[in-house]
Amino acid sequence: MKEHNFIIGNEKRLILIAEDEFINREILGNILSNDYEIIYACDGEEALNQIKENKNKLSLVLLDLIMPKINGIDILEHVKKDSILSNIPIIVVTSDSLSEEKSLNLGAADFIPKPYPRETVIKARIRRTIELYEDRKIINYTERDPLTRLYNKEYFYQYASTIDTYYEITDALILDIRHFHIINDRFGVHYGDIVLRNVADKLREVINQLDGIVCRKEADTFMIYCPHQDNYSFILDKLKEIDSSIIYRIGIYEYVDKDVDVSIRFDRAKLASDKIRTSINKNIEFYNEKMREKELYEERLINDFEESLLNNEFKVFYQPKFNVKKDKPYLSSSEALVRWFHHDLGMISPGDFIPLFEENGLIQKLDKFVWSEVGKQIRNWKEKYDFYVPVSVNVSRIDMYEPDFIDTLLKIINDNNLTTNDIYLEITESAYTSDSKQMIEIANKLRDLGFSIEMDDFGTGYSSLNMINELPIDVLKLDMVFVRNAHKNHDTKIVEFIIDIAKYLEVPVIAEGVETKEQVESLKNLGCDIIQGYYFSKPIPSNEFEKFIIERKNLL
Ligand code: C2E
Ligand code: CA
Ligand code: CA
Repeated sequence: MKEHNFIIGNEKRLILIAEDEFINREILGNILSNDYEIIYACDGEEALNQIKENKNKLSLVLLDLIMPKINGIDILEHVKKDSILSNIPIIVVTSDSLSEEKSLNLGAADFIPKPYPRETVIKARIRRTIELYEDRKIINYTERDPLTRLYNKEYFYQYASTIDTYYEITDALILDIRHFHIINDRFGVHYGDIVLRNVADKLREVINQLDGIVCRKEADTFMIYCPHQDNYSFILDKLKEIDSSIIYRIGIYEYVDKDVDVSIRFDRAKLASDKIRTSINKNIEFYNEKMREKELYEERLINDFEESLLNNEFKVFYQPKFNVKKDKPYLSSSEALVRWFHHDLGMISPGDFIPLFEENGLIQKLDKFVWSEVGKQIRNWKEKYDFYVPVSVNVSRIDMYEPDFIDTLLKIINDNNLTTNDIYLEITESAYTSDSKQMIEIANKLRDLGFSIEMDDFGTGYSSLNMINELPIDVLKLDMVFVRNAHKNHDTKIVEFIIDIAKYLEVPVIAEGVETKEQVESLKNLGCDIIQGYYFSKPIPSNEFEKFIIERKNLL
C-alpha cells in the first residue's frame, strides 16, 4: 500500500471522536492517537459544538449515531445544510446496519460497524476518506468560474470565513443586472458574456481594494463579501464605465451576524434585493429588521406546520357560489378555503402561508389534507341530507408536479364513494405561464377522468388570446380585481371582454369577490352566470354551511 504522510508540516491532522460510551472512545482513541491529533465529544450537543468550533481544522469526524441530547442523524442533517461544515468528512459508527443507507444519504462519507473491525481496517478507511476529501477540496479550490475567472461559490464561502477572522464587521452583498435576458436577446449571448466579464473585472478591481472577495453565483448574479463600508454607491459608479444604460441592483446585508451560515447571509442580501423589483428609482436596498421579522415569522410557520396539521389546527371553510341566471339565485356549488387556527398566533389567513408553502413544497401535504377533508365532508352531507352540492378545491401548480397527484384525487373520490362530478378543481391561470405544455397535459388528463377545471383568477395570468383555445377550461373565474375596478371606475369594458371570451369558449363565468347588490345586478346584466362573494356569504365552517344546503334542498 502506498505510504501517506499524515503529518502536515509539524502538525497532525485533527479528528473528532463523538461517542458517548467511555470504553469506545478509549478504543478508537488508542488506535488513532499515534497518527492523529484527537479531540472528543461525549454527547451530540458537544459534538456539534466541537464541529462548529473546529470547522477549519477538522480533517474527519467519527460519529456515533446514538448519543444523548442530539442524535447522530440530526447532526448529519445539520452539517449537510451548512456550506462549510459539509466539507468535513464524517464516518458513521454504529451497530445498527439499517442506518447505513440513511447516513450515506445524509452525506456521511463512510461507515464503520460496531463491534469494531480490525484495527488496520479502521485505519485504512479513515485514511482513505481523508485523502478523498482533501483531493476534492483541492479541485474545488483551484476551480474558478471559466467565464469570469472569479472564484467559484465553494471557494468563496470558504474564503468568507477567513475574512471573518480578520474583520469584525462585515457585509454581504448580492448584485445583479436588471433584465439581463433582454441584453442577451437583443445583442446576442456573446455580447452578454462580454458584459458579464466586464462586470466581473470592475467588481474585482473595486472589491480587492476593500480587502473583500467577489464571485459569480449564477448567470448574472454576483456575490460580494467585504469589511463593512458606509456607502456602496461607488460600485455603481464604477460599473457605469462599462455601459451607462445597464441598470444594476444591489441587496446588502450589513453588519452580518457571524453566527449564521454564510449562505444564509446571502439569502438575506437577496431578500433585500428582491425588494427592489417593485421600485424603479432605487438600486440599493438594505436587509432590515422588518425583513428579519418576516423571515422569522415565516420560519416559524414552516416549523409549526407539521405539528399544526397533526393537531387539527387547519380547518376547511366553505364559501357558497350562487347561480344568478334565474330570478331567484340558488346555491350551485362552493369553494373550499383553508384556515389556520394557530395555537399561539391565532387565525392566519391563507395569503400568509399558501405562497410560502408553495415555495418549499409543504403545500402538497396541506392540499392533500384539504382535499381529503372535503371528500369526507361531501360524503357526510350526502349521507345526512341525501343531497349535496359540488365543492371546488384549489390546486396549486406545485401540486400538479407531484407524480401521484391524480392518484391522490382518485383515491379520495373512491374512499368516499364519490364521483369526479363531486369535486371541481380550481387552477389559477398563472399556473400555465411556464411549462404550459406539461400543465395543459396534466389538466387534460384530469378532464378526461371527468373532473371540471375552473380557471381561477382569470385575467391576471396574461394568457395570450391565441393560446386560450388550448387551455383546459370548463368554467372561467373572473378575478375579483376586475369586479372591484369595474365598480369603482364605472367602467365594465374589461369584464365584458372576459365574459365575451367565456361565451366564445362556451363556458360559464363565475365572478368572485362580489360584495354589493349593485355588483350582483351589474354582473348579472353583463351575462355572468355564477356569483361568489361576501354579498352571499363569507367562507364559513362546514356546520354553518349546512344551512345553505338545507335551503337549497327545500327549493327542489
Ligand atoms: P382564491 O382562490 O382566489 O380565493 C378567493 C379569495 O377571496 C379567498 O381568500 C376568499 O375568502 C376571498 N373572498 C371571497 N369573497 C370575497 C369578497 O366578497 N370580498 C373579499 N374581499 N374577499 C373575498 P382566502 O380564503 O384568504 O384565500 C386566499 C387565497 O389562498 C386563495 O385565493 C387561494 O389562492 C389560496 N388558498 C386558499 N385555500 C387554499 C387551499 O386549500 N389550497 C391552496 N392551494 N390554496 C388555497
Ligand atoms: Ca380559488
Ligand atoms: Ca380566485
